[in-house]
Amino acid sequence: MSNIIDKYVEGYIRSLLPKNQGILKDIEDRAIKNNIPIIHGEVANLLKIIINISKSKKILEIGTAIGYSAIILCQAAGDYAHISTIELNEERAQEAKYNIKRMGLENNIQVIQGDAMEVLNFLDEKYDLIFLDGAKGHYQEILEKSIDLLKNQGVLISDNVLFKGMVANDNLVVRRKRTIVNRMRNYLEYICNHPKLQTSVIPIGDGVAISYKKMEE
Ligand code: SAH
Ligand code: MG
Repeated sequence: MSNIIDKYVEGYIRSLLPKNQGILKDIEDRAIKNNIPIIHGEVANLLKIIINISKSKKILEIGTAIGYSAIILCQAAGDYAHISTIELNEERAQEAKYNIKRMGLENNIQVIQGDAMEVLNFLDEKYDLIFLDGAKGHYQEILEKSIDLLKNQGVLISDNVLFKGMVANDNLVVRRKRTIVNRMRNYLEYICNHPKLQTSVIPIGDGVAISYKKMEE
């Protein structure tokens, strides 16, 4: 249980979502079997809708894992989509490349293996949307490095911001996660008060924050 919303509400919302089919279902099953964290169905659904509304084509993802969410982002962005996705773990990056190829999306998704904190220093393109889903303890530093890569009127989506409810309730915090929880609280305050961002924190999945980058005044 996610400790974020009541299990019956979460279960009901999930029951409304169409199930994955074919290769994507296989990738999802593999991730679950191997304890690889992937976006929850309701978060995937929200991402797809935001990509459609914002007409995002150029997307930057931090935290590829085995490519599951990158594939979903890419399919939602449709023709001419381009996703750059960064993964620290070499084995996962390799598996992501393999999965992306299986889906026939290797021309649209570029997997960059490395530490986002380093890789971001070398990117200089502008993105319509940034999906932040890796290195929970470093979200603020990652955002500081990537906010200039986000276009004005672009969207930043941060996953796992309520981290099993711990971010919202001290009683849930397990000792060894205290630092991450404190950092995540600081991150949420930062993006909720950032002069360039307008942010909404949504209690679905493991907590998602959606931020809109305002036009420069
Ligand atoms: N977005 C994926 C899940 C990502 S899980 C999906 O929904 O399918 C988070 C991933 O971030 C892990 O695979 C982890 O190895 C990676 N990660 C952690 N720290 C990182 C860093 N500093 N740079 C890049 N990736 C990182
Ligand atoms: Mg996540």
